[in-house]
Amino acid sequence: TPRLSARGLVKRFGSTTALAGVDVDLHNGESLAVMGPSGSGKSTLLHCLAGILPPDAGTVTLDGREVSRLSDRERSLLRRRRYGFVFQFGQLLSELPAIENVALPAMLLGTSRRDATELAGRWLASLGLAGMEGRRPGELSGGQAQRVAVARALITGPAVVFADEPTGALDQATGHDVMRILTETTKAAGASLVVVTHDSQVADWCDRRIEVRDGLVVGATAEVPR
Ligand code: ADP
Ligand code: ADP
Repeated sequence: TPRLSARGLVKRFGSTTALAGVDVDLHNGESLAVMGPSGSGKSTLLHCLAGILPPDAGTVTLDGREVSRLSDRERSLLRRRRYGFVFQFGQLLSELPAIENVALPAMLLGTSRRDATELAGRWLASLGLAGMEGRRPGELSGGQAQRVAVARALITGPAVVFADEPTGALDQATGHDVMRILTETTKAAGASLVVVTHDSQVADWCDRRIEVRDGLVVGATAEVPR
């Protein structure tokens, strides 16, 4: 079974059909780029896959278990326990130092402050941020802040990491650096990865890509045999 699987996903906002029947499979440890022009439905697809939005029709399964019809509360627990999120720049808690931003998701799952802080310190060091633990997000460069976001997404050992335009606010060189770290670190942690981007060079970092237009998947690169 695929790690994450969607069948016939439909999502409407009033008279707008954002998703018109999407099928997608994400395998264990695989990274998938979701591409397409602005307004094509990429973010809505990510939000439905990640259990942020319930679809109007269709199903999402995680490890073969249907997760698209869980209650809001259960979906929120599922996100915290099994998923990690990296969004565009500006998502970190600005009042908290980097190390507390990273430690927080582990503490929310019941890890003690001491253990979570120690683990967060190891994550920051492994992403090249030793010495930056005490800096608040506003005192980091854009690339550094996104590396903190990657550490925060991975500290809980998620099954899937979801990234929505993770390089959107970065210059090209920094964006590539962040994509290299995001794809390599996620794979090393054994997690699968979904990256929404409109940038083909960003998508090149992923194993596979799909192209979305008007709420439909209109193209895809071949699945890697496994
Ligand atoms: P993309 O991420 O490819 O830019 P989106 O998934 O954000 O596309 O949007 C797909 C379509 O759904 C667009 O027409 C957008 O305007 C609409 N849409 C997305 N979210 C909402 C919302 N919360 N309310 C109303 N319309 C929305
Ligand atoms: P990168 O290429 O890694 O994104 P930058 O060239 O943007 O880094 O930043 C270089 C250095 O300046 C970094 O060490 C970073 O910590 C520091 N820096 C960037 N922005 C700020 C800021 N607003 N306040 C304090 N230090 C900053």
